[in-house]
Amino acid sequence: MANDTLNAMGVVSKEIDEARGTEYHARFLKFLEYYQQNDLVGNAAQTDVKGDRSKRPHEQADLDLYLRVVERKKDGVVVRGAKAHNSIGPYADELLVVPTRTLTKDEGDWAVSFAIPADTPGVKLVSRATAPRSREKYKAPFNTFGIADSLTIFDDVFVPWERVFMCGEWENAGRLALLFANYHRHTYCGCKPAVTDIIMGATALVADYNGVGNAAHIRDEITELMIIAELVYASGIAASVRGNATASGIYEPAFLYSNTGRYLAGKTSTMNTTS
Ligand SMILES: Cc1cc2nc3c(=O)[nH]c(=O)nc-3n(C[C@H](O)[C@H](O)[C@H](O)COP(=O)(O)OP(=O)(O)OC[C@H]3O[C@@H](n4cnc5c(N)ncnc54)[C@H](O)[C@@H]3O)c2cc1C
Repeated sequence: MANDTLNAMGVVSKEIDEARGTEYHARFLKFLEYYQQNDLVGNAAQTDVKGDRSKRPHEQADLDLYLRVVERKKDGVVVRGAKAHNSIGPYADELLVVPTRTLTKDEGDWAVSFAIPADTPGVKLVSRATAPRSREKYKAPFNTFGIADSLTIFDDVFVPWERVFMCGEWENAGRLALLFANYHRHTYCGCKPAVTDIIMGATALVADYNGVGNAAHIRDEITELMIIAELVYASGIAASVRGNATASGIYEPAFLYSNTGRYLAGKTSTMNTTS
């Protein structure tokens, strides 16, 4: 999630600079260097809580239902709102914030992107933890500590300018939101086939234990899963091969193939295990 967000931030910060003469991309690269040098973990804070879905952000009864800038200062901005369903939010070092949707000219305050440490004053993480049943064999940190996501509340949080990568450029908000999604769907094309490999292996093993490993209908079902998994993987390769270099130098996956792969993965229930 973080890599997908960072890629999108890297591309769009450069595009805003080229269109408007701002200096977001240099700030982003400086942050990225710090992030990589310290081997940090980031989350993706994109999904706004949204309120009434039939209304736009600036039409909501409560304007904080989409995260927005409430104050611009000499040394930074103050943001208010909340981001929902933030995978790994409770144990991420950095919160990577991007808009959730395309915005209009009345919505410059909602066009904001930044990165801040998760323990910044004013950040409140309402955590939802799940602890999988412990394993006797094949232990992994995941099994010891479980996993968690958060409703990440930004209660008038100060973000210094050096951590702000978009502020007011509503024309670029949709590009940033959708580009994150494009990278994430591309990532899917790699991880979901791997999950399916595990499921296919477990299914074949259970069939063997039951003495029906050679049954034609069971082999057919596994074969179908195999074909879909490989088609999803192939879509990911196609999205990479047909990808384009953006002005930042970062490559952008060909969206038709990343979306096709993600669609196939989502349609097949055993592969549809996360967002
Ligand atoms: C496992 C998992 C992990 C996730 N991880 C992250 C994460 O790390 N970071 C992050 O930011 N988000 C994350 N998400 C959030 C995810 O991106 C959102 O849940 C998703 O975008 C849907 O948003 P929502 O929950 O607000 O639902 P909604 O957008 O409200 O959708 C609910 C229903 O209402 C319908 N609907 C909504 N608006 C309209 C409308 N205007 N007209 C008609 N119908 C409408 C939808 O089609 C849908 O059927 C995760 C989600 C899951 C399931």
